[in-house]
Amino acid sequence: MMPLKNAIITNPYKAPPSEGVNYAKLYHTGIDLISDNLTVYATLSGIITAKGYDPPGWGNYVILRHKDKYDLIYAHLYSANVVRGQNISEGDRLGIVGVTGQVTGSHLHYEVRKAPWELQNDIDPAVFLGIYNRKGPAESIKEEIMIKNLIVCMPGPDERAAGYLGDYLKSPVCLVRNVTQELIEAAEKIYVIGTEEKVSSKSINIVGDNRYDTCQKVLNICK
Ligand SMILES: [Zn+2]
Repeated sequence: MMPLKNAIITNPYKAPPSEGVNYAKLYHTGIDLISDNLTVYATLSGIITAKGYDPPGWGNYVILRHKDKYDLIYAHLYSANVVRGQNISEGDRLGIVGVTGQVTGSHLHYEVRKAPWELQNDIDPAVFLGIYNRKGPAESIKEEIMIKNLIVCMPGPDERAAGYLGDYLKSPVCLVRNVTQELIEAAEKIYVIGTEEKVSSKSINIVGDNRYDTCQKVLNICK
């Protein structure tokens, strides 16, 4: 389920940093949401592995570990009503949206990472929420569209081509290292961009002599 009711996306996943905002990485690693209803809900079940206050970053935040596989981060909270070690069911209240930490306005920063934490193991949170990763009112992706195709790439320049194909096919994009067995099983077709790596027997590799050539091959599919 969604972490906020009637959520509106103000800053999508992978958005480049806006002026005056420093991301630890070169892009927005979560998705920013606002709503007229400030209650924050658990999007999945799990256990609270962290609750803290990080003034230059996330402000008041909680981290919920789902099935020992994913860390779901809820940041910039006004307050959190859970404690570390608490078991959580999907839909439980976690806290209230706030303006704590590095923010320009009240919103929820929702982020998903493959557990345990490492650098660059963020996952498109929109896929987890079953919504399109774009500004505006959160819009559900119909399941049959969502799982039909999966776009996979290596980190780096090929991410752009992969993102383009993802938009064209209305399908999620994921780094090779973050592909999970569930995603592989759910997808009918898996496009692997810029690498010969065999992700699964279903995968179709799109690789050029260089990144421009790879991009051209992706564009040919989108014609
Ligand atoms: Zn954010």
